[in-house]
Amino acid sequence: MEEGVSLLTATEGARCLAGGASLVAMMHAGQLSPVMLVSLHRIQELSAITRTEDGLWLGAMVRHRAVAANAHLDGALEVVRSAAEQLAHPAIRNMATLGGSVALADPCTDLPGALVAASARVEIAGPGGRRLIPVEQLFVDRFRTSLARGELVTRLFLPRGTPGAVGHHLRFSRVSGDYPTVSISLVLAMRGDTCLEARVAVGSCGPVPLHLAEADQRLVGTRLGEREVAEAGRLLAQAAAPLDDVRGSAEYRRLLIPRLLGRALSLAREHTHG
Ligand SMILES: Cc1cc2nc3c(=O)[nH]c(=O)nc-3n(C[C@H](O)[C@H](O)[C@H](O)COP(=O)(O)OP(=O)(O)OC[C@H]3O[C@@H](n4cnc5c(N)ncnc54)[C@H](O)[C@@H]3O)c2cc1C
Repeated sequence: MEEGVSLLTATEGARCLAGGASLVAMMHAGQLSPVMLVSLHRIQELSAITRTEDGLWLGAMVRHRAVAANAHLDGALEVVRSAAEQLAHPAIRNMATLGGSVALADPCTDLPGALVAASARVEIAGPGGRRLIPVEQLFVDRFRTSLARGELVTRLFLPRGTPGAVGHHLRFSRVSGDYPTVSISLVLAMRGDTCLEARVAVGSCGPVPLHLAEADQRLVGTRLGEREVAEAGRLLAQAAAPLDDVRGSAEYRRLLIPRLLGRALSLAREHTHG
C-alpha cells in the first residue's frame, strides 16, 4: 500500500489499474494514455471482506461477481448485491471491481447509485494517511471524483441500517447487458403499513447519482399511496439533469423516473417485515 501511494504521489498522471475493464478499453480507444499504471492486484488488504456488528467492509479490489454472490449482503445491503448481480454481463462482472466503479465515477452505471442508497462510506489512503467519507462526497462530476493526487480507494463500508429494512435495485435498459437508461436504487423500512424510512437514488440521470432528501421525506410517514409516490417521483424527475443519448432522450428518462420508482417501491415492499 505504501509503495502504491508513493508511486501515485511521485508521478503526475499515474493511474491505478484495478480490473482494467474500463481503463484498458479507454486506453485502446485512445481516450487515455497514463504515464504510469500502478497495479493494485498484489495489495492483499484490497481484496478483504470483513463483517462487523454494524455492517460490512468490502475491499476496493472485490469483483462484482463476488459482491453478487455474498450472502451477507442482505436486508438494506441487498441494494448493492442486486446492482452487482444485474449490471453488464458475466465477463465484466468477473473483471471489474468495486473500487474501480467508484473511482471511474461513470454516472451511467449502476453501482454508484446503489452505494448512495445504501449510505456507503469510502475509505481512501493517501500521502496524508487514511480518511473515510460518505460515498456522495466522492462523486464530483461525470468521471470526476474528489480523490487527490496520490490517493486511492482502499475499501467501502456498508452499514446494516434499520432492522427490517430492505434494499432494491431496479434498472431499465434497452437490452440485457446494456448500461441502464435509468436506474432506481432504494432502501426501505416499514412499520406495518407505514413507511418508516426511505432513501432513493436515481442513476443515469445527471452527472452524479441523484439523491434528494425532500423526495425521501415525501414517502416517510405515509402508506406509500399513489399520490405520495407520484409526488416523490415528480420531485426526482424535476431535480434530474439527464442527457439525450442513444439510450434515451432526456424527456424519456424524466418520464421513466416516477414509473420505475413506483415499481421499485412495490417490489421492495413485498420483502419488508415491518
Ligand atoms: C463494456 C462495459 C459495460 C459496463 N456496464 C456496466 C453497467 O451496466 N453497470 C455498471 O454499474 N457498470 C458497468 N460497467 C463499469 C464497470 O462496472 C466498472 O465500473 C468499470 O469497468 C471499472 O472497474 P475496473 O475495476 O475495471 O476499473 P479500471 O478499469 O481498472 O479503472 C477505472 C478507473 O478507476 C481508477 N481506479 C481503479 N481502482 C481504483 C482505486 N482502488 N482507487 C483509485 N482509483 C482507482 C483507475 O485508475 C481508472 O481511472 C461496464 C464496463 C464496461 C467495460
